[in-house]
Amino acid sequence: MKRIIFILIVLLNGCNFHDELYYEIAPEVQIHVDTFYEEAAKRGVRLEKTNLIVMYELCDGIKCKWSDLYGLSFKEGDQRIVYIVDDYLVREEPDALECLVFHELGHALLYRSHTTEYSIMGERNNLLEYKGNPELREWLLDELFTPRK
Ligand SMILES: [Zn+2]
Repeated sequence: MKRIIFILIVLLNGCNFHDELYYEIAPEVQIHVDTFYEEAAKRGVRLEKTNLIVMYELCDGIKCKWSDLYGLSFKEGDQRIVYIVDDYLVREEPDALECLVFHELGHALLYRSHTTEYSIMGERNNLLEYKGNPELREWLLDELFTPRK
């Protein structure tokens, strides 16, 4: 009898995972997600490393799950989920993957919407390149974390 109760308790506890929020970052974009948190902290924006799943897909142009999308940010219950789709266009531009991750995390963690202004939160085809221009990168990150109204 004790054993049956023990098994029941284990089974019931096993069902509780739906209430948990996960923090899982795909290794391909880990460095950019970490950089996002560092840049936020530098600007006094406190973000907890919790409740975020970032998935990554390398798209070869044929097997794209989201052929016209580079990224997607949404919630499933309370769980924040971000998809990043990397392809030849992203890889052609040195800073595009970082920019893409920052854009989607801007939606997921900063609750920012798209803007028509020059911004990392610009429209989705706006893959910014700021390599070799650290001042431009700083300006864009300032704007990302403390949007000008
Ligand atoms: Zn977007």
